[in-house]
Amino acid sequence: MSKKIIVIGSGFSSLSAATYLSKYGYQVTILEKNKSFGGRARKFNADGFTFDMGPSWYWMPDVFEKFFNDFGKKVKDYYSLKKLNPAYRVYFGKKDFIDIEDDLKKISNSFEEVETGASKKLIKFMGEAKKNYFIAMDKIVYKPGQSIFELITLDTFLRLRYFITNIKSEVGKYFKNEKLRKILEFPVLFLGAKPENTPAFYNIMNHADFGLGTWFPEKGGMYRVVESMVELAKEVGVKFKSDCQVDKILIQDKKVVGVIANGKNISCDIVVSGADYNHTEQLIPKNYRNYSSSYWDKKVFAPSSLLFYIGLDKKIKKLSHHNLFFDVSFDKHASEIYDNPQWPESPLFYVNFPSITDNDMAPEGCENCFILIPIAPDLKDNKEIRNKYLNIVLKRIEDIAGEKISENIIYKKSFCVNDFISEYNSYKGNAYGLANTLFQTSIFKPKIKSKKINGLYFTGQLTVPGPGVPPSLISGKIVSKTIMQDFPNQ
Ligand SMILES: Cc1cc2nc3c(=O)[nH]c(=O)nc-3n(C[C@H](O)[C@H](O)[C@H](O)COP(=O)(O)OP(=O)(O)OC[C@H]3O[C@@H](n4cnc5c(N)ncnc54)[C@H](O)[C@@H]3O)c2cc1C
Repeated sequence: MSKKIIVIGSGFSSLSAATYLSKYGYQVTILEKNKSFGGRARKFNADGFTFDMGPSWYWMPDVFEKFFNDFGKKVKDYYSLKKLNPAYRVYFGKKDFIDIEDDLKKISNSFEEVETGASKKLIKFMGEAKKNYFIAMDKIVYKPGQSIFELITLDTFLRLRYFITNIKSEVGKYFKNEKLRKILEFPVLFLGAKPENTPAFYNIMNHADFGLGTWFPEKGGMYRVVESMVELAKEVGVKFKSDCQVDKILIQDKKVVGVIANGKNISCDIVVSGADYNHTEQLIPKNYRNYSSSYWDKKVFAPSSLLFYIGLDKKIKKLSHHNLFFDVSFDKHASEIYDNPQWPESPLFYVNFPSITDNDMAPEGCENCFILIPIAPDLKDNKEIRNKYLNIVLKRIEDIAGEKISENIIYKKSFCVNDFISEYNSYKGNAYGLANTLFQTSIFKPKIKSKKINGLYFTGQLTVPGPGVPPSLISGKIVSKTIMQDFPNQ
């Protein structure tokens, strides 16, 4: 008889782990507390609008392709992708913006217009970023983070300086202009830490950005990816249960024997949890946990977010699909997230209008608008605060981009710290898990395997390789390989 595995949660990492494990012959069931699958990447429909609730940037298409290829499939068997041009727009002030186009040559021309000589420097900078990307993909990110020796290769040794310098100083060596620096520091924000605390090796994200491009899953946005992964998982035999919260992991003689979900005992041999790590450890007795509460308190968490899902009764003319508002101090906002956690005085924020690319995401003549303000986790969250920030960002959009939208709002919903906690059991309401600082990378991440219980494993954005959709797919693969080694199927 093959081993029975319960996978907690249905985020990208859980979907990935479950699909690999089922393909390897285990009996796999996903238990998800929410009504729908996809975790932080769920969607909802309201008044004719379709909102992606979390991720909106489809980067690193190679990782998605590799995932589907592992099952003898291609991405295009499930969904089609459109490369966005411009990939995104960055606002620095009133009608002052730079469009990042869909090809490095065009981007380097835009850089040259801002700083003489920047075009050549960008090509050089990107050459290094590309080399690091391939080393990361071949030698690092698919490793389980169990031993320092995973990281020691000739390639990593020769590029050691990228691990001991940070991305801010690396970018600063190449470019003087503040706008260009901000554009090149932006991609590492996906990794959840300040650029000065993120190793320069993470310029791999610059290759992901300018080198590989920004894509959009057609006919439905990011949720198309979730739907496709659920479809593939079912094809290889994974069973799914929604509205099914796991309240306890059952242990006998230091071995997993089952879970209690919705008050019922379900037996199994192995549990893989893609729920937030800290929450999973609350499902087992204290003496079996890998980490104490003080361990979690000391960790650098990626930000939480204040999100708005807005329906507009008009089409947008003056903004792009993805827009970054970097018209205020980056350093001040970052310090209000990491150093002195508090609501930002004047936030940077991100706005997207997916219906510019996909008409079906809004009723005819309308636009779908998603706003994200990064904030520190664990902040006080209430209706008044949310409204205050909505007014701040709407005014900034109107003043800076010159596009009136406040009077065109016909649907509005917000999501913040309290919702991250209640909907996903998120630790302190974090949105993207743990930040990828040097000492929270690879072997320093929370371990994918319980040190004290046989048969308990962890996956997802709080463990290797880190936050983001592509890393979550990779995390599922890593944990499934580890289980195969520990519990080979007869
Ligand atoms: C607002 C936002 C924007 C983002 N933007 C991007 C982006 O543009 N591009 C990108 O690549 N990444 C982005 N990310 C990050 C990316 O979405 C995440 O890293 C990824 O989706 C995390 O997947 P996961 O599998 O680790 O966990 P999750 O998606 O958190 O899944 C965990 C699941 O476990 C379930 N669960 C929790 N407790 C239990 C329990 N006791 N029993 C049963 N089920 C339980 C939860 O309901 C949830 O479904 C964004 C994230 C957010 C929040």
